[in-house]
Amino acid sequence: MFPVMPQQAVTHVTIPASDRAVSLRGLRKSFGSVVAVAGVDLDVADGEFFAMLGPSGSGKTTVLRMIAGFESPTGGTVELGGRDVTRLAPFERDVNTVFQDYALFPHMSVLENVEYGLRVKKVPRAERRARALEALKSVRLDGFEKRRPAQLSGGQRQRVALARALVNRPRVLLLDEPLGALDLKLREEMQVELKAIQREVGITFLFVTHDQEEALTMSDRVAVFNAGAIEQVGTPAEIYERPATAFVAGFVGTSNLISGATARAVLGRDGTFSVRPEKLRVVLGDAVPPGSDEHSAEGTVSEVVYAGPATRFVVDLDTGSRLIALQQNQEVSSMDVMGLRGRRVRLVWQRRHEFAITS
Ligand code: ATP
Repeated sequence: MFPVMPQQAVTHVTIPASDRAVSLRGLRKSFGSVVAVAGVDLDVADGEFFAMLGPSGSGKTTVLRMIAGFESPTGGTVELGGRDVTRLAPFERDVNTVFQDYALFPHMSVLENVEYGLRVKKVPRAERRARALEALKSVRLDGFEKRRPAQLSGGQRQRVALARALVNRPRVLLLDEPLGALDLKLREEMQVELKAIQREVGITFLFVTHDQEEALTMSDRVAVFNAGAIEQVGTPAEIYERPATAFVAGFVGTSNLISGATARAVLGRDGTFSVRPEKLRVVLGDAVPPGSDEHSAEGTVSEVVYAGPATRFVVDLDTGSRLIALQQNQEVSSMDVMGLRGRRVRLVWQRRHEFAITS
């Protein structure tokens, strides 16, 4: 038998009750005949940066809204810090939400925007000011107090929205597509920034995204949603390197599935297996036979996509499946790799990089 990692390793870790910031049990929500959330169980630990990742319509925003209290569940419970808040109003819950459009008041200065929540709560003026300045400092916006939102960049506006939530010192901060309104370059910068801010303030961040790279880059753990349910929960590395289901393998990264006749011929067994494109080596000819800890499959290169630092090879295997291999362009030029289109190759990978998945 060759090594196939047990699937239990990639699904749930048990978080002690005293360390749970958020606990969802059997959470469900229907809108008329539409089942938006079909029974979700999830524990998020204190201080975690946690992503709910999934395609549009998979129910992640509805889960976020039920945690915030904007939506009441059809069934199940929401606990925050061990307290059942399922029936409480949003303002009675120790959470704050940062919305995708930031919802800043345009006629107020940055400082007034950040102070607003504390003013509503009748926090004395001096304390209000001190806490707002501290929150602005934590998002690296000191010096911007007097500006209006219109005088800020998208990334700066995003940070004001963050400061406005952090000033309340919530136990959990909920973020709905926090970087969705930013362009790609700024989004990449803010991914790093947001993570650094979260580490500094130490508050639990729970965010919704449909962007797999964003989820993998920022999070301590990720829950992958599909059709109102969670398919897998794990660290970014577990989700990426050991996808538990065909859906996760396809949604997070490139789906490279080995099944049917290919699984029987190449792996010597039935089932569905996944191996990531960068784990495959493209070898010309039979010069180097695969080692005992490796598997290999022969085929023909049907497509070559040169992408600067790396090249993607689409290989049609003799057994009928198609696999994608990603190779670094360390010592080759675009001319070298383009010449491989139509050539016979062998794909070689280490057995430890293939994983059984449920389809
Ligand atoms: P997106 O990334 O597009 O926001 P999502 O994963 O967050 O998607 P939800 O917004 O939670 O998904 O929606 C889940 C399902 O519930 C969808 O089919 C959606 O159309 C439906 N839905 C959400 N809110 C309502 C509502 N207020 N009334 C009716 N149906 C709704």
